[in-house]
Amino acid sequence: MTEALFRDDAYMKECEATVVAADADAVVLDRTVFYAMGGGQPGDTGTISWDGNSAAIVDTRYGDAGTIRHIVPAGSPLPPVGSRVRATLDWERRYRHMRMHTALHLLGAVLRYGVTGGNIGADRSRLDFDMEETVDKDSVSSAMQALVDANRAVRCRWISDAELEGQPELVRTMSVQPPKGGGRIRLLEIENVDLQPCGGTHLKSTGEVGRVNVAKVEKKGRRNRRVYIELE
Ligand SMILES: [Zn+2]
Repeated sequence: MTEALFRDDAYMKECEATVVAADADAVVLDRTVFYAMGGGQPGDTGTISWDGNSAAIVDTRYGDAGTIRHIVPAGSPLPPVGSRVRATLDWERRYRHMRMHTALHLLGAVLRYGVTGGNIGADRSRLDFDMEETVDKDSVSSAMQALVDANRAVRCRWISDAELEGQPELVRTMSVQPPKGGGRIRLLEIENVDLQPCGGTHLKSTGEVGRVNVAKVEKKGRRNRRVYIELE
């Protein structure tokens, strides 16, 4: 199992770790700052370095039994199992994902409809809403910006499976149910704005989102509005 350091501190840009396994596709470490793809957020990229060598990490995915796989390009040098390495994020890309991810929570707080899908990118992100109404781009943009400018605190806390079952209204995403059975669920809270299960990486306050606006709205069916946001 890989210790997921990004879950407790999304602002860690690098860490020391020990190599648990390495094959032609990926390196597994005992701990990592690399976010593994999930919940619509892409896996992190960056480098792993050791003894004057380094390997580019082009993606990060979950493997078997709670391991996190740092994906390397074909023909990459690999660190020996048991060696100490330094894992360093492409922080600029990841921080953009954090800004986007936090902004999507604000979008979901402004448009209070069921969420049926979503995707985070460095340049553009989207949520799909279960709704028939027309989305007014300008008013949604200004409502989101007001939440950014209010600079609300963002924090994570954990609750038990049983507590979540007692509060089903916490689960706003209809397509992605939070992982259950692990005994505890991670909740993301934006002070007085949003509270829902989420395993992604977020900012510590909404002000760091900066300028955000709704770039495009697509009608993807009678009851589906796809809303894209962009950052400045
Ligand atoms: Zn989230």
